[in-house]
Amino acid sequence: MGLETVFGHSFLTTRLDEAVNWGRKYSFFQYPFVTACCGMEYMSVFASAYDIARFGAEYPRFSPRQADVLFVVGTVNEKLAPVLKRVYDQMCEPKWVVSFGVCATSGGFYDNYATVQGIDKIIPVDIYIPGCPPRPEAVLDALIKLQAKVSKESVLDRKASGGAATGPMAVKAAKYK
Ligand code: SF4
Repeated sequence: MGLETVFGHSFLTTRLDEAVNWGRKYSFFQYPFVTACCGMEYMSVFASAYDIARFGAEYPRFSPRQADVLFVVGTVNEKLAPVLKRVYDQMCEPKWVVSFGVCATSGGFYDNYATVQGIDKIIPVDIYIPGCPPRPEAVLDALIKLQAKVSKESVLDRKASGGAATGPMAVKAAKYK
């Protein structure tokens, strides 16, 4: 009688998820894709008053291959969209995306032909942070929400999806390849 028969497949994978997700949610490495004024508030989260290191997400990485959380901070225009897509594609699984501020989330008040009306037209987004710019507290709140989301994920699901856009998302993303 094998282990799987004794404990059941779901028991084994649930315990694996808990252990792996615990490690993942306390060791985020961010890639800051900073394009505009929101960057000032983003930087303040690293200072001692807010101290993002308390959440295990201290060091930004400036190579997408070394990062697992993509922070898109500021306005993204149509010319920059393929660059954002390329950066996202270069990140290894598992990876998550945070949209920082209204410009990244919806274009903000730049409702014009040159501005992407939300980065979720290019890449999948896990957490949206409202504000123009968002307060540092909102960034920490988003990080806690992302930790909660990661802790509920299944390692097997993440492997199966491969982070690729699917359905209508794939059609939108194809425009920026
Ligand atoms: S949301 Fe506001 S602060 Fe952030 S990039 Fe847009 S205009 Fe600037």
